[in-house]
Amino acid sequence: MKIILKSKSSHSHYYNVTFDFSDGKVRILCDCPHGDWKRVCRHRLAMINGDKSILFDKKQADQLDAVLKALRQPGFDGELISYYKRLQLIEKQKSKRDDLVRQVNYDFGQKLNEGISVAVN
Ligand SMILES: [Zn+2]
Repeated sequence: MKIILKSKSSHSHYYNVTFDFSDGKVRILCDCPHGDWKRVCRHRLAMINGDKSILFDKKQADQLDAVLKALRQPGFDGELISYYKRLQLIEKQKSKRDDLVRQVNYDFGQKLNEGISVAVN
């Protein structure tokens, strides 16, 4: 089974995301520049995540549902979810780190204005 869905792009055209189910595997390809370099792209991630707002053609929503149903089958979901969860965990850690950097920068800025204790001889 091969299903090709059109993904919105930041330009006016679209990218093709291909879900190719064969030989007990699913290949998920995207013809955007990241996809061509075998890198994860937002188009594939959004579709794997079931985000229908990424669809260029809203009439393909039923096809995306069919793809998602197939991806949730035992055998496919394990490895896919493992990668997905790892990415989510890293994003969460990144977000916490960014919050910490903002907080320390804020505190530092406040201290610089309020005055920092210095030993004066
Ligand atoms: Zn892409």
